[in-house]
Amino acid sequence: MSLLEIRGLTKAFGTTTVLDGVDLSVDAGSVTVIVGPSGSGKSTLLRCINHLETPDAGTISVDGSLIAYRRDGEVLRELPERTIAAQRRRIGMVFQQFQLFGHMTALANVVEAPIGVLGRSRRDAEERGRALLARVGLDGREDAYPRQLSGGQQQRVAIARALAMDPTLMLFDEPTSALDPALVGEVLAVLRDLAERGTTMVVVTHEIAFAREVADTVVVLRDGRVERVGPPAEVLDDAPVA
Ligand code: ADP
Ligand code: MG
Repeated sequence: MSLLEIRGLTKAFGTTTVLDGVDLSVDAGSVTVIVGPSGSGKSTLLRCINHLETPDAGTISVDGSLIAYRRDGEVLRELPERTIAAQRRRIGMVFQQFQLFGHMTALANVVEAPIGVLGRSRRDAEERGRALLARVGLDGREDAYPRQLSGGQQQRVAIARALAMDPTLMLFDEPTSALDPALVGEVLAVLRDLAERGTTMVVVTHEIAFAREVADTVVVLRDGRVERVGPPAEVLDDAPVA
């Protein structure tokens, strides 16, 4: 069974329908890249998966836990609050604008939730946090504050912070869009490494070369609908995606 199954997902803001019957299946260990023009609903889709938005209709199942919404947004099949909370903890999200805590060092950013939410000991969290920072190429920068780091380094801290929660699913919303072109490659290299380690990932990006190389599945979203879906070689060949 797929790790993530979405059926008929619909979401409107006021009278504007932003997601219009989206279906999506993501297998464990696979990389799904979502492309599409600005305003096509990519961020809203990720936010629904992470319970940051409430859909108006459809079903979302993560790791076998199904939540279903009726046409008017009423929750038809509820998940216990603690299941939703548990899911949220295990779905890592990385944003375009990093969203690090500016007054905390890189290591403090990474260990905050494992200690505060998962109840890990500081010692264990820091040991693992250092290893994660090393994994994203930030060995030696544990004590740096975000303002002392480049955008690419900040985004790599954000990725390490998400990984520190042992996510079953990682969501990336245009993780390189805010970066100087020279810094895009170092962040994509981290994503590539995660993919090679079998991390289940859904990545919204305009980096088509990355999608071609790393994605198992490419989804083209347009006007809130899945316009095309399939392996990159099929979907990206001469398809205008933006
Ligand atoms: P994308 O990420 O593909 O650029 P979004 O999911 O951010 O698209 O937005 C899709 C549409 O929904 C846009 O027209 C956007 O203005 C609108 N939208 C997104 N979030 C909200 C919100 N909280 N309230 C009202 N409209 C929103
Ligand atoms: Mg967006």
